[in-house]
Amino acid sequence: MKKLAIYVLTVLVITILLPTVIVKTFNFVPKEISSIGVSFEEKPKEDDDKKEPVEIDYDFEKVMVYNSKTNTVEVIPIDDYVKGVVAAEMPAEFHIEALKAQAIAARTYAISRSIKFEEGHPDHKLAPLCTGIHCQAYLSLPQLEEIHGESWVEKYWSKIEEAVESTNNLAIFYEGEIIEPLYHSTSGGRTENVKDVFAIDLPYLKSVSSPYEEEAPRFRETVTMSIEDFIKKIKSKYPMANIDKNNLHEKIKLIERTATGRVKKIAIDTNVVDGRELRDLFELNSTNFTISLDRKLNIIEIETYGFGHGVGMSQWGANGMGKNGKNYEEILKHYYTGVEILPIKK
Ligand SMILES: [Zn+2]
Repeated sequence: MKKLAIYVLTVLVITILLPTVIVKTFNFVPKEISSIGVSFEEKPKEDDDKKEPVEIDYDFEKVMVYNSKTNTVEVIPIDDYVKGVVAAEMPAEFHIEALKAQAIAARTYAISRSIKFEEGHPDHKLAPLCTGIHCQAYLSLPQLEEIHGESWVEKYWSKIEEAVESTNNLAIFYEGEIIEPLYHSTSGGRTENVKDVFAIDLPYLKSVSSPYEEEAPRFRETVTMSIEDFIKKIKSKYPMANIDKNNLHEKIKLIERTATGRVKKIAIDTNVVDGRELRDLFELNSTNFTISLDRKLNIIEIETYGFGHGVGMSQWGANGMGKNGKNYEEILKHYYTGVEILPIKK
């Protein structure tokens, strides 16, 4: 009996106790690891302190800006300049993360332009940047107060300051180079490849989806005019075009749309013109348009989607992303393909 008891005990030790000990021993392993400071739950945080600052060959503390109204050149501390651009380019009611993304884009644009046109921009030789929409719109605080009133300043100025100061020395880089971050109001659902709009190709300005734009006031708009007015306008720019009320549908033809649906080339009788020329002629919001002819009502309807050239960050899309919980880094990385947001070495 004693032998049997020892046997049972041995079996019990082997089958129950030993595995328990082994399991317990193995259980120790992760604890050991976590005790030396590596935890599996917590992802290593990618905060800006850990990002290596980038050294750029440019003193970015101040910018030289040509004031197109006063015809003078102003030297402005970059943070003050960026605040004036954010306030002029984006509604202050927008989500704080959209305003931060706008601040970083505005700063990056100012620096890249200042490097590129150090000797002055060909269109305004006195400075690399101007205060108009030709570069990026800038308004000083007194100008903003004059336009929006004192209550606007009280309500929003601290928000703009926060957007700029909390992203203080951050800029957008692609493969170590500072980028030229184009941006626009509303894409109409999808941004545009830069090569389909301007005569350049840049790897970070690719077409991407732009959800959350439905709130934008210029997401979709229709311009209506009589057939006669339409023909008159076309003839004012293309006097040789042999078009009239009867042959209109044959003489104006879509030749090519871009991959995202914007009008790239359009034939007006024997001329083939860029979609952009028609956008300018009819003052359309974008080149994302369709023209329809209604003979019964004797009207032409031009329906546009989006507002602006459609390249790079969509401001309304950025606001929508902010409202949907995305931060400025996620917004910028969505609209600028393959970029990094890095601090500049002071
Ligand atoms: Zn300019």
